[in-house]
Parts: sequence; structure tokens; C-alpha cells
Amino acid sequence: MKIAIYPGSFDPITYGHLDILKNACSIFDKVIIAVAHNSAKSGFLTTEERIKLIKQSIKNIANADVDSFEGLTIEYAKKIGANVLIRGLRAVSDFEFEMQLSQTNSTLCEDIKTVFLTTKPEYNFISSSTIKEILFNGGDISKFVPEPVFKYLKEKNV
Ligand code: ADP
Repeated sequence: MKIAIYPGSFDPITYGHLDILKNACSIFDKVIIAVAHNSAKSGFLTTEERIKLIKQSIKNIANADVDSFEGLTIEYAKKIGANVLIRGLRAVSDFEFEMQLSQTNSTLCEDIKTVFLTTKPEYNFISSSTIKEILFNGGDISKFVPEPVFKYLKEKNV
């Protein structure tokens, strides 16, 4: 069984993340979104909020799940028996960082491979930080995030 994890901040989950996840789910038996929890750094949403929104957003994808972890991604992958790390690539600007990360991870554990995926062109430019920028300035984020995220942030009156 090929288990992949898709690690990241997901603060919040976007249509870009969701498209990468769907692509990964069509290749691997099980894909777990792994929300990186950093107790020293507070994000926009809490880890619990992110997980709740991810759960609601992926409920129709049978082989997807969500979890959180603290510490090294590679250690979490080993712990749960995942052999693949999924990362997404947007533009050339992502490439350098992602390349460095994947080579570091494969040096730490050569049995766990990083697989890079891309989205459909219409989701390629979406990032959680742009969404927060739009939100804090009163803009409409409905085209960028799954419905549960949009509803939650509207109710929260961010
Ligand atoms: P991180 O803080 O680890 O970058 P993110 O939640 O921002 O976490 O992203 C997780 C992964 O998803 C990263 O590999 C990122 O490049 C990828 N990703 C996010 N949005 C997109 C998108 N629109 N298209 C392709 N990949 C994306």
C-alpha cells in the first residue's frame, strides 16, 4: 500500500491545495494532509481550526485524510509508514526552496521520496498568504477557497 503525506501549513486550505490533493489521491492508495503544528509560532488559524476546515473540505475524497504533526516531517512520515511526500509547485520561485527541502529530506531518509505535483492552470497562482491579504482588506475570497473555509471565515468576521 502506497501511503503519501501532503505536509504544509494549510493556513487556510485553498483550491490550490485541494487540486494537488485530488491529483495525489488518483496516484496513491491513501493521502494524508499533514498540518505542521508549530507551538512556538501562531498562525492565522489554530491547528484545530485548520484541521476542522480540511476535514469538511475533503469529505468527498474517499482515500484522503488529515492529521497534524510537530517536528520533522520525515519523522512523522516514518512513524505512520508513509513512503511518499507530496509537495506542490506553483512557479519557478517555489522550485529552489522545494528542491532544497526534498534533497534534505532524502538525505535524512532515502526510502521516502518526494513527488512534486502541479494544479490546473486556474488554481496555480493561489496561495494562503494572498488569500489572507485579500481577506484582511475586505475582498471576496470565494473563488480561492473551498466553501467550508469561506463560510467559516465569513461567520468569524475576520
Ligand atoms: P508550506 O508552509 O509548507 O509552504 P503551504 O500550506 O503554503 O505550506 O503549502 C503546502 C504545499 O502546497 C507546498 O508544497 C506548496 O508549494 C503547495 N501549494 C500551495 N498552493 C499551491 C498551488 N496553488 N499550486 C501548487 N502548489 C501549491
